Amino acid sequence: MSLLQISEPNFESPVSTHRLAVGIDLGTTNSLVATGCGGRVEILPDLDGEYLLPSVVQYRKGSPPVVGEKAKAAAVADPENTVISVKRLLGKSATEIKNSDTVGRYRLDSSRDEKAPALLTANGSRDPVQVSADILKALIARAEDFLKGKLEGAVITVPAYFNDAQRQQTRDAARLAGLKVLRLLNEPPAAAVAYGLDSKDQGNVVVFDLGGGTFDVSLLSLKKGIFQVLATGGDTALGGDDFDNVLAEWLSLQVFGGKKLDLGEQSKLLHYANQIKHQLSDLESVELSYADWSGRLSHVQFSTLCEDLINRTIKTCRRVLRDASKSVGDIDNIVMVGGATRMPAIRAAVTQYFGKPPLTHIDPDRAVAIGAGVQAEILIGNKAANNFLLLDVNPLSLGIETMGELVEKIIPRNTTIPVARAQEFTTFKDGQTAMKLHVVQGERELVSDCRSLAHFELRGIPPMVAGAAKVRVTFQVDADGLLSVIAEECSTGQTAEIQVKPSYGLDADSIEQMLKLSHEHAHEDMELRALKEAQLEASQLMEAIDAAIEVDGGLLTKEEARVISSAITELKQALDKESSGRIHEQTEKLNKVSSEFAARRMDLHIGKGLRGESIDAVDQSNK
Ligand code: ADP
Ligand code: MG
Repeated sequence: MSLLQISEPNFESPVSTHRLAVGIDLGTTNSLVATGCGGRVEILPDLDGEYLLPSVVQYRKGSPPVVGEKAKAAAVADPENTVISVKRLLGKSATEIKNSDTVGRYRLDSSRDEKAPALLTANGSRDPVQVSADILKALIARAEDFLKGKLEGAVITVPAYFNDAQRQQTRDAARLAGLKVLRLLNEPPAAAVAYGLDSKDQGNVVVFDLGGGTFDVSLLSLKKGIFQVLATGGDTALGGDDFDNVLAEWLSLQVFGGKKLDLGEQSKLLHYANQIKHQLSDLESVELSYADWSGRLSHVQFSTLCEDLINRTIKTCRRVLRDASKSVGDIDNIVMVGGATRMPAIRAAVTQYFGKPPLTHIDPDRAVAIGAGVQAEILIGNKAANNFLLLDVNPLSLGIETMGELVEKIIPRNTTIPVARAQEFTTFKDGQTAMKLHVVQGERELVSDCRSLAHFELRGIPPMVAGAAKVRVTFQVDADGLLSVIAEECSTGQTAEIQVKPSYGLDADSIEQMLKLSHEHAHEDMELRALKEAQLEASQLMEAIDAAIEVDGGLLTKEEARVISSAITELKQALDKESSGRIHEQTEKLNKVSSEFAARRMDLHIGKGLRGESIDAVDQSNK
């Protein structure tokens, strides 16, 4: 990376080449691929100019899988060999699939293991990972055609509620498709990123995602560039498709008088209902004609048909807010995601509930992919976003302040993340029960020359002599660059913790500047550090001697006391001169002239200790 080599004269900065990375929204109903072109992130179309790739795969004997629009069209005629909504099957066991499949749409291969189910198709068994890989391959081909080059990696989005097995299978599908996963990203923050909400300092964002077959509401809290998921809710059996069903039922009643339809006729009617639903998002009313029946449906009538479904979405919002102990007034932005949020009735209900209109200016079915594309550009190094610089290495050292305003580096710069490092520290004063921790970032030796990231305190340290307590400080940076600092007092297990995003407010220029300064000041910083350490050692010794004289001064002759006191005076003079060499010399001298005193105290206290112990021992044996 050129910016990290800027002040090393033997290296030329590499010439920048644009590296190819994409963001992928691998959706239940539709999938999209996005990438950075000319400073913006755009969705890539297929050869016909279509942006959405239906997440549908048709398998035919002896020929390659058909993916997308063609497969979706085939689903009506060939439902048995056409896999839809495969995302719902990821990470599921055979029994789980059977139980969730109310329509009887999936034919499971009974020769397969319970834990590794596969679907029967005209071209053999296909498991959910393979089907997902076929969708990914179609997206990769689209991107590589468009970008005229090989992809280096992708950010793939997953629902916030996806468990480890579902995430792992998403990764497996990418590997099978020959695609490197730069990161799996949760869908709700991805949408918020697409709207640039991460550049705000703070706020609460609700992401309302109504896709084809699922509904997810997430409440995100933004603090200094980090999205934290405060609460999630939703319904895995509620989505745009249910609105199709409601409309198809109504149509079936009008056209066929409610008589039972076969699978093929049902599929056809559903397909028609879906088209009408889409039209009603733009038109007041629509002319209907199906078989030899014709009629008209207004938007208002349709909204009335869907009232229950709409109310369910609002109920979920209410529950999510309640779970996070927030009220609608606490919500700064509502982000609409998922194709079904195009329905005006949904938008109206959301506006009414939150008391303000939601953000809708990014296409709701594109927002997640765009957010993933932004992340991909950053991860591959094409773009250093202003306020969330997400590199896979830690660009500047992270450490804590130690006595003397010095920095102790814990994670050095250029360490690959995720990473965890720990170090032990101790108390400075006798009886010290609390410790201040100051987390800093930078290459310099003095705290004042570094960036301050966070302060926190560890309390409840049992009182001990200075230097006896053990406090273990762990620095942990996760894959998203989030730093957690945990301080633990080892004897009691008392802990304190803080989280911070070290990249917040840091851009490539300021990193470069900080590295430059640290090189320029390297020598002077080293001297300064030596001085500070000498000063610290000296004052620690003087304090210890003062405290000892107060308790055991009687052990000294007048002459001995005078010698020690004059050594202290000389050390203080050396401290004023600010030369680490002089201070070391005088500290040594003070150590020497007081060593006899220290030895006498040791004898005295060990003696006391032994006597105390023998009395206890006697007591014990008498019981
Ligand atoms: P997923 O996240 O499940 O892949 P999408 O976000 O692509 O799904 O949403 C698909 C759903 O959005 C479908 O039910 C589709 O009918 C619906 N949808 C797309 N466009 C419109 C529109 N203009 N009006 C109403 N619903 C729409
Ligand atoms: Mg979606």
